[in-house]
Amino acid sequence: MEIINNYINGTFIPSTTGGVLPLINPATGKKYTTLPDSDQMDVRLAIEAAKKASSKWGAMDVQQRSVVLNKIADYLERDLEELAFAESTDTGKPLSIAKTIDIPRAVENFRFFAAGVLHFASESHLMGKKAVNYTVREPIGIVGCISPWNLPLYLFSWKIAPALATGNCVIAKPSELTPMTAHMLCKISQEAGLPPGVLNVVHGLGSKVGKAIVADPEISAISFTGGTHTGKDIASVAAPMFKKLSLELGGKNPNIIFEDCNFDEAVQITMKSSFSNQGQICLCGSRVFVQKSIYQKFKEVFVKKTLALKLGDPMNMKTDMGALISEDHLKKVIYYGKLAVEEGGKVLTGGNRLLMDDDLKEGYFYAPTIIEDLEYDCRTNREEIFGPIVTLTPFDSEEEVINYANSSTYGLSATIWTNNLSRAHRIAMEIKCGIIWVNTWLLRDLRTPFGGMKQSGVGREGGEEAFRFFTEPKNICIKI
Ligand code: NAD
Repeated sequence: MEIINNYINGTFIPSTTGGVLPLINPATGKKYTTLPDSDQMDVRLAIEAAKKASSKWGAMDVQQRSVVLNKIADYLERDLEELAFAESTDTGKPLSIAKTIDIPRAVENFRFFAAGVLHFASESHLMGKKAVNYTVREPIGIVGCISPWNLPLYLFSWKIAPALATGNCVIAKPSELTPMTAHMLCKISQEAGLPPGVLNVVHGLGSKVGKAIVADPEISAISFTGGTHTGKDIASVAAPMFKKLSLELGGKNPNIIFEDCNFDEAVQITMKSSFSNQGQICLCGSRVFVQKSIYQKFKEVFVKKTLALKLGDPMNMKTDMGALISEDHLKKVIYYGKLAVEEGGKVLTGGNRLLMDDDLKEGYFYAPTIIEDLEYDCRTNREEIFGPIVTLTPFDSEEEVINYANSSTYGLSATIWTNNLSRAHRIAMEIKCGIIWVNTWLLRDLRTPFGGMKQSGVGREGGEEAFRFFTEPKNICIKI
């Protein structure tokens, strides 16, 4: 199996110390290759390379940058099978998901920002006959992009594509648990003619590489997706340095189901919003609130469908759910399964680790779990588990469920199921989340602002928001 190296100045090199980390396949629990255990010295090398490349890339015609990004998209699409295989191996997610969601979305990210940047215009403000202001939006220069393990290439490219499109050079760090597709993207970028030093990928631990990226004074903006605790750490280092910060953090999202919903569709999509990617999507609806009149019926159908999910080998195209990302994460999910019971929860299905056979016997599998009878504000309902555990809670009125939904310190996304148009608007306006879905989930238009309120983050990604984040506005006022 291929060994992963850093990609700095257009070449693949080991870490300066030569240190490596094991890369584990979570479905088997076995090491399958290594990645560099880089540190601040490697980050410095990447910054020196980016400094050399920066002025030329930033000054290049936007059309030319767009051509390179489109080529990257084409090559990602060409290599979809290999990329999906690598993503599934690194994450333990079903290959079918990697093929239909992760890699196609990475392709789309590059295409979207390659096209979008051609339409990205700046403003002018006329002051009668006195003066004219025009605003230019310049690349920031060198930016840091740090991404998590749950949707590796999908989220990595969501940051890198707009950063590159607007003329920045990037120092990027994928999660140390899922570095393979970022490594493959580097090869593709090289083939697509991205000049050396424009994209530099430094692999390793957050506590070493991530910290060095955040602390380096020559990196002027940080785009981060990951946990809220890490976000706090990053903000504490970057904010006093006045770096631009985009933080996409955790969530504890409500999924609100009213009696007047389209029942079958609500159950069907709730299955997805609960257990897709083993519940490891920041947008998963881990708190399911169901109106009392349909609670019993919903519970029965939901549990029955959950019991029918196929868990197992991620490479089997019939598998619905694969492995959790790591042994540590499995321990965390097991802990929360037990906590829910200690807090008085009744486990309707799941609640335990699943032991598989043969090659998968050391894999990190956990049963899809539904728990009821918990207080809406207990720890299980407040803390992010980020696994296949959802709670079911009945409610009577709109007022009551709005209170439940907003009781979280997080505010990423919410889903509302109702056919009453006025109610949908009313609730959507009241819920304190950055993204609200009505009668759907995970339907994404890349032009819309993406991000959370409260402890789910600061700033927004997507469309214009991303272009604005990765550029520095400068207003020029000319007296007429
Ligand atoms: P994490 O915070 O542990 O790690 C994310 C990335 O940050 C990794 O690359 C890691 O190496 C790096 N890192 C860790 N410590 C760092 C530090 N001190 N300084 C700089 N970088 C550091 O998160 P994770 O476990 O990889 O991902 C799961 C979390 O991500 C969940 O909380 C989930 O909700 C969140 N998430 C949020 C979104 C969103 O869009 N809001 C999307 C996906 C995941």
